[in-house]
Amino acid sequence: MTDQTKQSFDVIVVGSGASGGWACKRLAEAGLKVALLEAGRPQSDANFSEHKPAFELKYRNLAAEIVRKTRPIQSKFDVCNEYTQDWFVDDFEEPYTTPTDKPFNWMGRLRMTGGRTNVWGRVSLRYSDLDFKAASLDGYGENWPLGYNEIEPYYDLVEKYVGITGTAEGLAHLPDGQFQAPVPLTCQETLFRNRVKKNLARTVMPTRSANLTKPISGRGPCHFCGPCERGCMTHSYFNSAFTTVADALASGNCTLISNAMAYKVLMDPERNRARGILYIDRKTRQSREVYSRVVILCAQSQESVRILLNSATPQYSNGLANSSGVLGHYFTAHVRSGGGSGEFPAFGAKPSLGGPRKPWGIYIARFRNLPNDPPFKKFLRGFGYEGESSMDFNWEAPGFGEAYKKSLREPRTAIEITGFGEVLGRWDNFVELDSNVKDVYGIPVLKIHMSDGENERAMIQDMGDSAGEMLEAAGAKNIRTYAHPSAPRWALHEAGIARMGSDPKKSVLNQFQQTHDIKNLFVMDASGFPSNPCQNPTLTIMALCVRSCDYLMAELKRSTL
Ligand SMILES: Cc1cc2nc3c(=O)[nH]c(=O)nc-3n(C[C@H](O)[C@H](O)[C@H](O)COP(=O)(O)OP(=O)(O)OC[C@H]3O[C@@H](n4cnc5c(N)ncnc54)[C@H](O)[C@@H]3O)c2cc1C
Ligand code: SF4
Repeated sequence: MTDQTKQSFDVIVVGSGASGGWACKRLAEAGLKVALLEAGRPQSDANFSEHKPAFELKYRNLAAEIVRKTRPIQSKFDVCNEYTQDWFVDDFEEPYTTPTDKPFNWMGRLRMTGGRTNVWGRVSLRYSDLDFKAASLDGYGENWPLGYNEIEPYYDLVEKYVGITGTAEGLAHLPDGQFQAPVPLTCQETLFRNRVKKNLARTVMPTRSANLTKPISGRGPCHFCGPCERGCMTHSYFNSAFTTVADALASGNCTLISNAMAYKVLMDPERNRARGILYIDRKTRQSREVYSRVVILCAQSQESVRILLNSATPQYSNGLANSSGVLGHYFTAHVRSGGGSGEFPAFGAKPSLGGPRKPWGIYIARFRNLPNDPPFKKFLRGFGYEGESSMDFNWEAPGFGEAYKKSLREPRTAIEITGFGEVLGRWDNFVELDSNVKDVYGIPVLKIHMSDGENERAMIQDMGDSAGEMLEAAGAKNIRTYAHPSAPRWALHEAGIARMGSDPKKSVLNQFQQTHDIKNLFVMDASGFPSNPCQNPTLTIMALCVRSCDYLMAELKRSTL
């Protein structure tokens, strides 16, 4: 039975992660009455455990099989562990399905205020016109319906608020931003940066990361304790729970409704308008309705599209706002199964079990298929690398007794780099509803069809080969490289199943993430991305969301919504 609470707002935002947090902040601070529906629990500093040693935990963070009992998929990525497991979905309560020959690990499914930003890796990179206009350059896919100059002011705005550390490198295809001072490179990283530049003319830089090196609005600079994925009591990394969402709530104009699992968008078919959201209260399992003038979905790509598919009506029988038929198609997610590692001199440094831990290391900018170079023959688009140096004891030291103890203390210093590559959008990588399976709240689940194509396979091979080439150029010893198929397919950077475009016949959203079909319905997460460039997506998700909110407010003033 549905409880008609008759609550009515100017705007409903579904999801409180990177996009939803910004939507609430931007709109509530401008005076609109916002309801924030979040499927997860409220987050608070009391849940943070970045300084808690493992020996204080019941299973010392060693009993992975206990975590796997409820979260066999989420725990495949190590940020879901004994410390954080109950921030994630229970994989049995909220399943999804895949064809048997196309397994896909949908990880990073958070159920807390802040969504994935609770545990994200914080790498924050801009896109450029090489990405927005890629289709014009190489003929594959569709251009974005906007260019770099239109999003640039919003990158500036978001970066200043979030706090991004980095260095200006002057690369046209990886534009510089509003940076705080970078987290310094180690000696090994500096050597690697200099030699790769000198010998191969490629750019290795300190990771551009959402970790503060100077305070912003009561948030302290990072003190290098290390495990950001367990929270941060000094609020030194960006998590929307204690930044954008907190600001929205402080405005007095935003109401957070927790444990609210949005099921479908409620429609007024006669006026072709969204009128609210039907959600399931995760605690009572009761369904409830909440109403608004505008609805914005920010639940993360697959989750938002699941809501649209579950909102089908007689008028939109294959999914709401899907007159184009492309809803659910062109699913993309980075490939990252190629890379390498090598050993470097320690430069007199000694290993330590308790030393400061930098939250990030290096990023290597894309170097394939750049505008002034001849096209790379083996694949379209490109990839970058994330990496870091590490120093450890020589755990593999041979022998015993005094000699063993001595060689154990010999430092082992390595650099490891992992490629992150663009996946081309393809019609046959898609999501649909599985009519046979529902979650514990009675909501039909997604069936995800995803596999790599020839372009991805060739790119992964080059990630491994180029990693070896750069480590060798930098003088590393004991170089190891890898390049293996990314099966089962998995990713944390999914995008593109309700894509933006200028042509309503080929896209679901316009450039302001407004559905072509229903003017007061928006989708402001990465599902609108027409392509998924190799840079990490979240900075662009946030900048685009703020831009779309400004458009939304202008349209409200013009009374078109
Ligand atoms: C381990 C990890 C590392 C990452 N590292 C990086 C990185 O270094 N750089 C980068 O750019 N990106 C990174 N990402 C990706 C980044 O976190 C996401 O791109 C970003 O958080 C997506 O924002 P979003 O608003 O779309 O979704 P989320 O931040 O996931 O927020 C979605 C919210 O919606 C809620 N929700 C879902 N369904 C419903 C529903 N039906 N009803 C109500 N609420 C719902 C969820 O509970 C969640 O709180 C990483 C992600 C993970 C998991
Ligand atoms: S490393 Fe820095 S940002 Fe991460 S938890 Fe520690 S203080 Fe916070």
